[in-house]
Amino acid sequence: MSALEIHLIPCLTDNYAYLLVDARTNCAAVVDPSEAAPVKAVIDQRRVTLTHILNTHHHFDHTGGNLDLKAATGASIVGPASDRARIPGIDLALGEDSDFSFAGHRAQILDIPGHTSGHIAFWFKDSRAVFTGDTLFSLGCGRLFEGTPAQMWQSLSKLAQLPPETRIYCGHEYTESNARFALTIDPHNAELHQRAEDVRHLRARRLPTIPSTIGLERHTNPFLRAGDPALQRALGMAGEHPVTVFAEIRRRKDNF
Ligand code: ZN
Ligand code: FE
Repeated sequence: MSALEIHLIPCLTDNYAYLLVDARTNCAAVVDPSEAAPVKAVIDQRRVTLTHILNTHHHFDHTGGNLDLKAATGASIVGPASDRARIPGIDLALGEDSDFSFAGHRAQILDIPGHTSGHIAFWFKDSRAVFTGDTLFSLGCGRLFEGTPAQMWQSLSKLAQLPPETRIYCGHEYTESNARFALTIDPHNAELHQRAEDVRHLRARRLPTIPSTIGLERHTNPFLRAGDPALQRALGMAGEHPVTVFAEIRRRKDNF
């Protein structure tokens, strides 16, 4: 089976929804539709049938298009079991052990709480793609609205263990400001400097910085590197527990 086609759909000011298309059947799924109109436009333009709406978490900028799209297409709404009460129109609630497939493409569900108490990632292993919502961003991570640093660190560590070539599709285009912050935490990281420059060039031309990859993030994202001795030394926190270091980096980002 060939890999899913993945199309970025810019929504609101800095959100991305993603349209997944199975080329064999022309069936489509959308991940985190902030709003319905831009998604409908892409569905019409590509002449695909929307069968699933996949939500990573309950926030409005990820679910705002759910009910309109469901009314227009009859698509099933899929979201985190641990937060089913807050997902508008949910039909199918999934957690870590759930089996889920879209058009024959199996997705592994990862429970990744911390930004919100219920948050899942959809990992389409065969298509080498993971949809991380507001948990893992390119060069950043989500704010801890409903979870603890320990929870978020565990969630990020789970994502970091995916194969390095896995492409990361996250909820927002925050990479450029994330890069500015990351350089204050990890100023001696040559790969981070290169990534920051690449990102500046992309954004100067208003191009997306997504997808990133797990391998690139492991080397450049300070929130994944809280256990790294060099980064800990740069912070004056050599030998501290990674959760303590992660919490300090998150605190600095909140005040950046
Ligand atoms: Zn969110
Ligand atoms: Fe968001």
